[in-house]
Amino acid sequence: MAPANTPAIQLSKLSVIYGSGSSAVTAVEDLDLEIKDGEFFAILGPSGCGKSTLLKVLSGLLNPTSGEAQVGGQKVRGPQAEVGLVFQAPTLLPWMTIRENISLPGKILKVDPNEIRDRADSILELVKLTQFADSYPNQLSGGMAQRAGIARGLVQDPRVMLMDEPFGALDAMTRERMNMDLLDIWTESKKTIIFITHSIGEAVLLADRVALMSPRPGRVTEVVDIDLPRPRAIEMMSTPEFGHYTRHFRDYFKNLGEL
Ligand code: ADP
Repeated sequence: MAPANTPAIQLSKLSVIYGSGSSAVTAVEDLDLEIKDGEFFAILGPSGCGKSTLLKVLSGLLNPTSGEAQVGGQKVRGPQAEVGLVFQAPTLLPWMTIRENISLPGKILKVDPNEIRDRADSILELVKLTQFADSYPNQLSGGMAQRAGIARGLVQDPRVMLMDEPFGALDAMTRERMNMDLLDIWTESKKTIIFITHSIGEAVLLADRVALMSPRPGRVTEVVDIDLPRPRAIEMMSTPEFGHYTRHFRDYFKNLGEL
């Protein structure tokens, strides 16, 4: 067992170079980052700065060129149950029910079928989809499908949830509702969340800390503590304190010529 104060995630001098020779692309360079257990950590950065690359390394889908990624004090060596993934498109299999879709990672990891079912049912309750357990993906709204995507990421009870623009494809109102639902899920499940987003407001509303990344090669240039009270509420978005953070991040992107 790792000691109680072991960070959920530790990245040390992490670099990723795609290709070699004259066509080499340095996506991430010398990136250091530590994320505490149970933290909600958002990452904002310009397109192509290496955010998805970072998530691929953390999920064990890509080996870094140099440096190291650790989850729960253990070096990441390949895909593992400690990391759950949620993408922009929930990519549910249309021929499977929602319960079957959510159970899939457990099946792949060869968890006992009874345990999978119990776990899937309790996660379905957490994401408020119990009524739709036996429905098929095409019977769900966009927000519900994304809640199923989150449930699938949670089913193996990972230490860390990696979320890559999970609400980017949703309309504005559904997105706001999903933000609040995600905060409830995070509070109840006590997971560590790394949340990549292009929305400055979403990052400030959700996160304990927000990291800013530089243009490629991606590095963390600043980590900002979001000192807003919890529980968070949509109404906070119109307060001066909220505006103080969003202005700071906007200025960063304006200076990069991104806004
Ligand atoms: P982001 O998610 O921040 O948009 P990515 O991590 O997808 O950025 O990509 C970072 C950089 O690495 C980009 O310039 C991209 O073009 C490049 N890149 C990503 N994947 C590959 C690959 N398989 N081969 C070559 N270059 C890649």
